[in-house]
Amino acid sequence: MSKSLNPETQKQLAARVKYYKEMGIRDFYRRPVEDGAELALPRVEEAMPVESKGPATLPPVINDKPSALKLIRADIGDCTRCRLHKGRTNLVFGVGNVNADLMFVGEGPGADEDAKGEPFVGRAGQLLNNMISAMGIKREDVYIANVVKCRPPSNRTPEKDECDTCSPFLMRQIDVIKPKVIVALGAVAAKNLLAVNDSMANLRGCWYDFRNSKLLVTYHPAYLLRDPRQKKEAWKDLQMVMKYLGLNPPAAKSMPE
Ligand code: URA
Repeated sequence: MSKSLNPETQKQLAARVKYYKEMGIRDFYRRPVEDGAELALPRVEEAMPVESKGPATLPPVINDKPSALKLIRADIGDCTRCRLHKGRTNLVFGVGNVNADLMFVGEGPGADEDAKGEPFVGRAGQLLNNMISAMGIKREDVYIANVVKCRPPSNRTPEKDECDTCSPFLMRQIDVIKPKVIVALGAVAAKNLLAVNDSMANLRGCWYDFRNSKLLVTYHPAYLLRDPRQKKEAWKDLQMVMKYLGLNPPAAKSMPE
């Protein structure tokens, strides 16, 4: 049964929500609360001057992307919010340049990523690295993350509730990184980010406005490994990205192997 919060707790919650909003964090995940549990929030307005004097007086963490990402990682914690945690070796948070203009979003970790705790380090990752190099940039220049942070059993497609549970953390990562361009790799990433259920054929080929970034959909590298004929199409997508970002790769005329 729901019960209303006392005015002091409401004030505390409002201050905390305001503090997070000022950090660019807009999506909140609500954990189930056991009956009879008391809400114990550290007071935010004592430590953090949220009311007062504008951004200049806020704690440095607000403009500090590594710290903001660390806070998101800490909020994820040793996550058991969905069933995927049961098969996890390592949670795969994301990797790359916190100031990246370009961010790639995949579906979820596979076996290699689960073992290493880093996204796109297996065969699909090797192709992604080659795609990035063909654009005239390096893996270290971009940021890479996934819709779900734990490996689905036998690499199955993550289910909707798993994506819904995990994606608020991805949204927070995007809000911190603030890339100019997000490339959604494959249908799972595209459908979850854009909250639409459409075919890849319809989703590809155009720009979407997404959380202050431009978003483009292309094929997942694992799909390109299975059907290399589609690489030409993916290369067209990446050329749109290069044009938008003003990237001039020296000798990249086609999609790499
Ligand atoms: N496939 C994905 O979608 N993400 C990874 O990190 C690896 C493979």
